[in-house]
Amino acid sequence: MTSVSDIDDLLPQTQCRQCGFDGCLAYARAIAEEGAPINRCAPGGAAGIARLAAATGRPVLPLDPEFGRELPFAVARIRAEECIGCAWCVRACPTGAICGAPKHLHGVLEDDCTGCALCLPACPMDCIVMVENGREWTLEDAHRARALAERMKKRRAEDDAREKARLDAIRSEQRQLEPGAKSALIADIMTRAREANRSGGR
Ligand code: SF4
Ligand code: SF4
Ligand code: SF4
Repeated sequence: MTSVSDIDDLLPQTQCRQCGFDGCLAYARAIAEEGAPINRCAPGGAAGIARLAAATGRPVLPLDPEFGRELPFAVARIRAEECIGCAWCVRACPTGAICGAPKHLHGVLEDDCTGCALCLPACPMDCIVMVENGREWTLEDAHRARALAERMKKRRAEDDAREKARLDAIRSEQRQLEPGAKSALIADIMTRAREANRSGGR
């Protein structure tokens, strides 16, 4: 039987979820362990299905149109004049390909963009477009993208844990306070929140 990681190695690693699973690894697991069909990954297209068929010994099938169409590789580009710097797209991007400070316009690091298009629905200004750049998405690109996505996931989990610890500390401080000191604490929390807003947003 082909292992989950062998199948995962053959997937495009855009983490786009068009296959209906929560990323490439989840789809690989479903193929290897639950017999999920091998023809649901639109970014991988016909070549990807052929690779999966060869690895699993299953017949080659056409891409299931319910899960998207095979399109030329395209990367995201931000129309700078319309960007309001809200940074909502940053959180949506699995590889950390979008950079820019909150309240300033954002840009896409083309080399790190997998073309997953997850940033498009996140943008309230509708100012992100997909642009074909004339190149193919290779398995080498896929493996690099997987490493970027893993790094981002770890970084975000650490950020979330830090933020949770900070809020827990504030709550516990608040519980121990005399009623008179509460207003000073609230003022302090508001100051910290304003500072975090100015400097954060990832
Ligand atoms: S690249 Fe393919 S396998 Fe990976 S999440 Fe997208 S559709 Fe699913
Ligand atoms: S910039 Fe957009 S399309 Fe590119 S990887 Fe990030 S979320 Fe996906
Ligand atoms: S979500 Fe749209 S408006 Fe907000 S920073 Fe990203 S590109 Fe700019």
